[in-house]
Amino acid sequence: MTNNNIYFVANWKMYGNLRSLKSLNKVINIAKSNLLKKAKIIYCPPYTLIDQFVKKTKNTKIDIGAQDCHFKNGSGPYTGRISANQLKSIGTKYVILGHSEKRSEGDTDQIINKKILIANQEKLKIILCVGETYKENKNKVVLNVLKKQLNSSLKNLKKFNNIILAYEPIWSIGTGLIPLNSEITKNVNFIKNIIKKKYKIQNIKVLYGGSVNQNNINILKKINNIDGFLIGGASQNYNKLIDIVKKTTI
Ligand code: PEP
Repeated sequence: MTNNNIYFVANWKMYGNLRSLKSLNKVINIAKSNLLKKAKIIYCPPYTLIDQFVKKTKNTKIDIGAQDCHFKNGSGPYTGRISANQLKSIGTKYVILGHSEKRSEGDTDQIINKKILIANQEKLKIILCVGETYKENKNKVVLNVLKKQLNSSLKNLKKFNNIILAYEPIWSIGTGLIPLNSEITKNVNFIKNIIKKKYKIQNIKVLYGGSVNQNNINILKKINNIDGFLIGGASQNYNKLIDIVKKTTI
């Protein structure tokens, strides 16, 4: 891990309902105790819970994010969509963009780029996911894939202070498979170097995501160039999430 605050982004995907607020209370209580001083916890529940989560976490160290936003901003005839402006208006601070589950539903790098520019305009903090498929990994084209995803989705972006990147190998999401630490280190270094060289940004934060859980965290936390984790499945259980946070930060 780097020496900075360590990020734990809880991506709840299409899980959770009002009853989930109870488990949020437990995480809030632990976050209040100075125990998790270095931890920056960001919950990304489904849209239906964002308002409640924002209210519950007011005056705590926990922030709330959305899992996506539409590529058009403001209001308009886009049935079923939510704009960055609507998210901002209810206190959402972060938005995950480019998640592979959204890419598999049709989000191209160009669409992701539009979403990034809009979310940035709304001053939402953006967690941009990049990563390769299993086939791309086996064909050893990971670095090309990462470069293309970064270059296309960050096009025309002028300010990077609201950008966090997440390296998420698609073959690792929800499968229980994780790359070797050396592989993650190499790919994260590559990402950081692109951002440094092309955009002159020195300290971009890069998280790792893909099957992080309470059992493999002691191995993953040894990776010294990452700034935290994007956690899907395991983050929906507060015991597992707290276990991951404690093992990484204490
Ligand atoms: C994710 O949703 O981005 C993710 C990494 O999921 P999981 O931890 O379940 O692999």
